[in-house]
Amino acid sequence: MWRPVIAGLAAATLAASAQGADRISVPGGAITVELASESPALDRATLLQWVRNSAKAVAGYYGHFPVAETRIVVSPQAGRGVSGGRTWAEHGGLIRIRVGEATTPEDYANDWVLVHEMTHLALPSLPDDQEWLEEGLATYVEPLARARAGRLSTEDVWSGMVQGMPKGLPQAGDRGLDRTHTWGRTYWGGALFCLLADLEIRRRTENQHGLQDALRAILAAGNMETESTVEPLLAIGDRAVGVPVLAELYRRMKNEPVTTDLEALWQRLGIERVDGTVHFVEDAPEAAIRRGITTPKAA
Ligand SMILES: [Zn+2]
Repeated sequence: MWRPVIAGLAAATLAASAQGADRISVPGGAITVELASESPALDRATLLQWVRNSAKAVAGYYGHFPVAETRIVVSPQAGRGVSGGRTWAEHGGLIRIRVGEATTPEDYANDWVLVHEMTHLALPSLPDDQEWLEEGLATYVEPLARARAGRLSTEDVWSGMVQGMPKGLPQAGDRGLDRTHTWGRTYWGGALFCLLADLEIRRRTENQHGLQDALRAILAAGNMETESTVEPLLAIGDRAVGVPVLAELYRRMKNEPVTTDLEALWQRLGIERVDGTVHFVEDAPEAAIRRGITTPKAA
């Protein structure tokens, strides 16, 4: 979730909260962590470990952290858990996020919000009509980055996709991803675009390449500090994997309500729902493609 802010306002807010900042280094980037207000109850060491683990997951997926300098401004609040993350490009990356003062180490370990926000840093800023790609990518990449870092089970990855993807299907009156700006189509419609792209890249490259390779090439051309229109970015991704899947899929889905038979898709990948989680069928036709999506790739 992000929107540009008035530069002066953000700068003033940052200057006021710059005292007592901690710094974390991960491959590719340095991250400054600040509290927006004093909070004796918030455990600083646990908080910093959560930031470090989240950053390492994103750096692992992309090969390095997407932005050289990032500031994270944490607003302590009553209660438990992480919420309200937003990300901007402001002299590097700027992430604002709310953290409950009673958040437990287990809550931090299960948090997805910060990895989602950090994933936004890896894509150039797109026009409003392609917010679905910004949010869809963050929605799709976040569980994969955490799984590859050993912080989420593969069952939880696919269970989340099985539960979430139906929310991204076109409803009555849908006019395609570029022209239907509902919550479902923006977050999960965008994530479904990413899943379909990942699967098709892997089918056409004998599972040698995936969406991750396209995204790394796109990041090499520019992170969130840059602006782009969508077609040139998709072309960069397509060149990196050697098949024009992203451009083709975008042409099909941008102005039309393309539907997907998700039940058939899960079956081909060997994913069966069992008691609130999923079970894998290893001799399913596309089981190898499913495994390829969650297998770590060397930087
Ligand atoms: Zn977001």
